[in-house]
Amino acid sequence: SLKIKNLHKSYSSVEVLKGIDLEIEDGGFLVLVGPSGCGKSTLLNTIAGLEDITSGEILIGGNSVAGLHPSKRDIAMVFQSYALYPNMTVAQNISFGMDIRGIDKAEQKKAIDNVSSILQIGELLDRKPSQLSGGQRQRVAMGRALVRDPQVFLFDEPLSNLDAKLRVDMRTEIKRLHARMGTTIVYVTHDQIEALTLATKIAVLKDGILQQFGTPDEVYNDPKNVFVATFMGSPS
Ligand code: ATP
Ligand code: MG
Repeated sequence: SLKIKNLHKSYSSVEVLKGIDLEIEDGGFLVLVGPSGCGKSTLLNTIAGLEDITSGEILIGGNSVAGLHPSKRDIAMVFQSYALYPNMTVAQNISFGMDIRGIDKAEQKKAIDNVSSILQIGELLDRKPSQLSGGQRQRVAMGRALVRDPQVFLFDEPLSNLDAKLRVDMRTEIKRLHARMGTTIVYVTHDQIEALTLATKIAVLKDGILQQFGTPDEVYNDPKNVFVATFMGSPS
C-alpha cells in the first residue's frame, strides 16, 4: 500500500502541498486530478523521492521512505515528457539500469521480450527514440517502467501528447495491464473521462489542498463542493 500523511511541501517560501492525506491499497488505481499548477507533479515527485518533503510522511508497504534514494523506493515513474535516452536504442532504454542491478544478459533479454510483447513494440527495439512516433515513445517509456516490476507505478499525464484515438487505445491498454499485473498505480491526468474509467479512487486537488478523495462514483455523483462538481462535470 501507499500511504501519505499530512504531507507539506514548500519551494522556498511558497507552500505547494498543504497537508495531503491519501491512502491507496495494494493493487489500487489512484487517479489524481486538478488544474494546472495545483501540485500534482510535485506530489508524484515527492513519492518518487525526486523532491524532498517539508514535513509529513510517505509510507510504501508500511515503511517510511524518508531519506531513501529514488532507486531504493521500489517505484517506477513515467514522466509527462517520457525522458527517454536519445542516444540509446529502445532495447537499451528499456533495460537501462539492469546491468547495475546485476541482472545477466539472458534475463535482460527475457524481460525486454516480455514487456515489448505486452506493449507491442517488438519491431522497434533497435531504433532510437528520434525514429519513433509520440505514441511509440510513450509505449517505450511505459516499457522502461514495467520492466522494473515495482511495487508502485507513478504516471504523470502519460497520454497527454497522444491523439484522441491512441489515447483511447492506450487507456484500454493501461487498464488491461493493471488488471493483469495487479500493481499499485498513481496516475495524474487532466481528463475526467480517463479518471472515471481508470480509477479505483480519485483524488481531486486544488491549490495544494485535497478537495475530495473517494471512488469515481462518489466523486462524480456526490461531489463535496462546487469545485469538484464543476471539475468532474457532475450532473446537477
Ligand atoms: P500541470 O497540470 O500544469 O502539470 P501540476 O499540478 O503538476 O501542474 P506542479 O508542477 O506540481 O503542478 O506545480 C505546483 C506549483 O509549484 C506551481 O505553482 C509551480 O509553479 C510550483 N513549482 C513546481 N516546481 C517548482 C520548483 N522546482 N521550484 C519552485 N516552484 C515550483
Ligand atoms: Mg504536472
